[in-house]
Parts: sequence; structure tokens; C-alpha cells
Amino acid sequence: MEDYVQMWGDIAARHEKEWKETWGNNDTTGPLVYRRDVVPYKQIVRAVRLKADQPICWGAADCLDQTLSHCAAGKHETCKQHANDCFLCKAEAESA
Ligand SMILES: [Zn+2]
Ligand SMILES: [Zn+2]
Repeated sequence: MEDYVQMWGDIAARHEKEWKETWGNNDTTGPLVYRRDVVPYKQIVRAVRLKADQPICWGAADCLDQTLSHCAAGKHETCKQHANDCFLCKAEAESA
């Protein structure tokens, strides 16, 4: 199972690298291509990590950073960068 997670991590990283090389400097089309060509791979990585009982960052739907802490509310696992910008907290506030 761990190899499977690793495999998808590598695939997502490869697509992000290719995107960066081609679209990284394009502020207009770049983000659109990113959402189409990179984010789906990242979401697969997040899904297989969850299945393997590995923590994922809830700060953003395309974040693959290592989770080091919890969000400011202390409720969800996030990476360092998203600790104060937790998407799950925002979403829960909306549904409350
Ligand atoms: Zn994050
Ligand atoms: Zn949170």
C-alpha cells in the first residue's frame, strides 16, 4: 500500500514539474491548465493516502505537504503553511 501511495506521489510530482516548465510563468492560462492537468493527480494522492491511513493536509484541496501540526482551531491536520488557513474550518463555518 505504501508503494502505491509513493507511486502516485511520484506521478503527481512529475505532472507538477512538467506544468511548471511549460506554464509556470503564464499567469493567464497557467492556473487553468494547473487545475486541469495537475490537481486531479494531487487529489488521487490525497485519496490513496487517506485509504492508507496516512494524514493529509486539510488546508487546501491540492496540498500534498507533510502534515506537521493542526489548524488554528486544533481540529484538523494541516501542513505548517495552512495552519492558519484551514479550508475545513471555513467549510464547517459555512455549513453551521
Ligand atoms: Zn497544506
Ligand atoms: Zn481546521
